[in-house]
Amino acid sequence: MAQLQRPTFAFMNRRLVPWDEATLHIGCEASIRGLNVFEGLKGYWQTDGRFKVVMVRQHYERLKRSARLLHIPFESSFEEYLGAIDQLIGALANPEKDMWARTTLFVTDGHWGENTVSDLVVTAYHQEKKLPSAIRLGMSTWRRSSDVALSARIKTGSNYQVSRLARIEGRPSGYEDMVLLNQSGRVAEATGSCVLMVRGETVFTPPATEGALESITLDIVEWLAQSMNVKFVRRPIDRTELLIADEIGLCGTLCEITLASSIEGLPLSEKSPILGAIQQRYFEAVRGTNPHPAVDLTVLPSVKSAR
Ligand code: PMP
Repeated sequence: MAQLQRPTFAFMNRRLVPWDEATLHIGCEASIRGLNVFEGLKGYWQTDGRFKVVMVRQHYERLKRSARLLHIPFESSFEEYLGAIDQLIGALANPEKDMWARTTLFVTDGHWGENTVSDLVVTAYHQEKKLPSAIRLGMSTWRRSSDVALSARIKTGSNYQVSRLARIEGRPSGYEDMVLLNQSGRVAEATGSCVLMVRGETVFTPPATEGALESITLDIVEWLAQSMNVKFVRRPIDRTELLIADEIGLCGTLCEITLASSIEGLPLSEKSPILGAIQQRYFEAVRGTNPHPAVDLTVLPSVKSAR
């Protein structure tokens, strides 16, 4: 998506507002220091015509954890959080498209951590109902910052400045996404997703302590793999190990499970039998054609059934 969509409404100050009126003041900490924490959620039309959002409770809990780490007050209950998403998607839903929603706590008042006030803002965008295509993956010279600088565990906009630089770096080489290494030169994560690597019969991924977000999709992938009798191991991954992997994929709420067709220009096999099977199973679960206990789906009552 080169250009962000401009939906009719956003949710701000506890109500729906027209897109053009959803603005922040230039003097607030969200503007001057990029102070915000956020979550990206995905919702899918189900085979029974209902619209459901994936892992809302887990996203709410992670938003609370990010807010806590940056000392941002977050008073909304889970019901209020869900209600905000429901109102906005209820107003924007289109039966032809799935949706992703961004729930952001912007710091609208306060100074250097005193008298901090935040507002829960929700924006939502339409998404094509299709499997993601395989991508060419590069490896960035930019690194995830360390846990004692700006932890990857905190889902804050400022953590994506490195991601943005990595994408800019990769674009002239034709890379659609980039792997970021950590301060020790091992694999951390990609710009907006976690890295999955297959060697032999096993799926590996770096633990969050290597500089990755505590991914909700990764927990789903772990459970799916186990129920498909595929071994899943969290352990550090060297840069060169990724270059000789049998299969590579990315996973995250928005990129779902995306396979890599090459890494740093080195082609990967056309077939990704293990990650391809997990990808298939993931889509069956999120679309409700074949539910799985790892995938928690919440129906949005304000969204009219597609039937
Ligand atoms: N790492 C980063 C940097 C991300 O932005 C995301 C997407 N939220 C992920 C990993 C994957 O997290 P999740 O599976 O919870 O979406």
